[in-house]
Amino acid sequence: MLIKNQNITIQSLALLSHADIQTDILRLDQLDPVISGNKWFKLQYPLLEARKQAATTLVSMGGAYSNHIAALAKAAADAGFKSLGLIRGDANTPLSHTLQAAHNRGMELQFISREAYRDKTTLRASYASDNHYWIEEGGYGILGANGAAEILADLDISRYTHIICALGTGTTLAGLIQSALPYQQVLGISVLKNQTDAREKTAALLPAERRDARWDVLHGFHCGGYAKHQPALLDHMRRLWASDGLPTDFVYTGKMTWAVEQLLHQSFFPAGSRLLLIHSGGLQGNHSLPPGTLPFS
Ligand SMILES: *Cc1c(COP(=O)(O)O)cnc(C)c1O
Repeated sequence: MLIKNQNITIQSLALLSHADIQTDILRLDQLDPVISGNKWFKLQYPLLEARKQAATTLVSMGGAYSNHIAALAKAAADAGFKSLGLIRGDANTPLSHTLQAAHNRGMELQFISREAYRDKTTLRASYASDNHYWIEEGGYGILGANGAAEILADLDISRYTHIICALGTGTTLAGLIQSALPYQQVLGISVLKNQTDAREKTAALLPAERRDARWDVLHGFHCGGYAKHQPALLDHMRRLWASDGLPTDFVYTGKMTWAVEQLLHQSFFPAGSRLLLIHSGGLQGNHSLPPGTLPFS
């Protein structure tokens, strides 16, 4: 365990609790303002492996608002690596807040056309070198999942019946499944549309004996697709802030808490359930909204 998580707290959420259900959230967003949340947990073992292989540069890919790219730039700089970000899109558009921050931390940015970006195998091969250590888009992988398994380390989670996170690549979900107790159900809320392979991708990161544990991926809470939003989502995020002082982001954690609110209305959870939500960080993504959209940033 490389991460010092003593400043992480568990907060109870009045908006998402009622007489029969108690909901708490694990504030991984408090870890670090930049490498916040799950991304640092996912990066810790790839960084160790890169050092073992004597690589000097960490290479990965992402979009203009990627929390993974933001976290990688900072984690690489802190650990004494160079970093190279392969960014989907056009070099001529002004740098997003995320990319500017990554660049300021020393990340080299190379822009990749949408067609070339889709062909990940070729892209990866063309950047292969002894000095380079490749990290999959979004930090997907077994090393990432093993790091995410440590999110729940050192915490007494025995009172919870459900553990719930936002799902992108499934790496965080796979880590949580590994460290959950046998009676707990672990749920990933997909933030992508038509992500039909989410279950398969998550299962591929699990040791065989864990694949049949109690876990699931829930679809239907993506609000139109990755990084898409709608007024009802932003309204939910404002209500959560007003009620509990909890900041969320519209790409991941806001969709997860909004999903939980809707699931509570549908009586999805049996009476007596105790939910532990994972605040996976990523608040920097809100900078892509027009200023003033949310009462927090
Ligand atoms: C990347 C990210 C996720 C998704 O994590 P996966 O391990 O890719 O499923 C969830 N929440 C936040 C805030 C993220 O930045």
